[in-house]
Amino acid sequence: MNEILKTLVYDRQVSLTILNTTQLVNDAIKIHNVKGGAAKTLADMLTAATYMSGCLKSDVGAVSLTVKADKEVGTVSVSGDKNLHIRGYIDGNLNGKLKGGYMTVVRDDGFFRPFVGTCELVCDDVSENLMQYFHLSEQIPTAVAISSQFDEDGNCVVAGGVVMQLLPGTSQANMDKAENAMQNFVNVCPVLMELGANGIMQKFFGEETEQKFVYSYFPEYKCNCSRKKISKVLISVGKSELLDIVKEQGKVSVHCHYCNTDYDFDDKDIEELFNE
Ligand SMILES: [Zn+2]
Repeated sequence: MNEILKTLVYDRQVSLTILNTTQLVNDAIKIHNVKGGAAKTLADMLTAATYMSGCLKSDVGAVSLTVKADKEVGTVSVSGDKNLHIRGYIDGNLNGKLKGGYMTVVRDDGFFRPFVGTCELVCDDVSENLMQYFHLSEQIPTAVAISSQFDEDGNCVVAGGVVMQLLPGTSQANMDKAENAMQNFVNVCPVLMELGANGIMQKFFGEETEQKFVYSYFPEYKCNCSRKKISKVLISVGKSELLDIVKEQGKVSVHCHYCNTDYDFDDKDIEELFNE
């Protein structure tokens, strides 16, 4: 099951998020047929996108995280929106190698211009990189313990994690409490597997929070593409250009990286696009 639990702890000075993204990670690795290091990188990036999507405030909010490593290594791109529809893909041989690459975060809060932040990746671990991103780019002290684990057949047995963010004015005592609590999640997979998101909330934060102030949300792996949306993009390309492509290649084919779907248009389809 996919789940996000959110609440405030330690005198309501620290925001706490517990994520279980196991199912959406399995959906993603099945669609993209990825294994090994690439599957783990995609999994942890999807959990990161799920966390950031859960922080969006505007109804039209959306966020994307893209990592570009060396030319020969490739790209991983994940995104999500306020509806908690999460998607992503990984290409090239990005086999768990992130160090030296760059991560760009684009967050659209529905304002005039989206927020764009970039940071250099210091290591291969998604949690470390995300902490550094929040520290440098958004100046929010954030502790991240995101991870995933796979069985011999390549299925994800558990994915998710725990994230804590200090609100402005957090006291030293509460900072220490948060830091101490995070020690429980240095190796978060077995804890999440044993207790689940709710169990973690109860065992480690039960005394800090009232159940009625714990909010749950249910993210899922879902692409926003559709033939209609692709059609709109094609119309902007222009009719004669599209017909030229059909002449050369037999069809206009648009591939959605996020869900691995091909949208094909022949000359008849293109005529129809411009007649509507
Ligand atoms: Zn798609």
